[in-house]
Amino acid sequence: MQKCPKCIGFGSDSSNFCSICGTKMEPLAFINCECGKQLVPGTKYCHVCGKKQKIKKEKKNEK
Ligand SMILES: [Zn+2]
Ligand SMILES: [Zn+2]
Repeated sequence: MQKCPKCIGFGSDSSNFCSICGTKMEPLAFINCECGKQLVPGTKYCHVCGKKQKIKKEKKNEK
């Protein structure tokens, strides 16, 4: 299950675009902590080792 970043739309794992607004949906990118634990996106601190995670900011290339 993927969630549309722009609207309330949901899509199946195999769908790449929102069926409501057409926004491209990226599959959830888990954060790999140094301890080996996979953390959900947006996690600031690892709940296993306490390591602060770097938040990646998405760059949008718009013309
Ligand atoms: Zn949408
Ligand atoms: Zn960790």
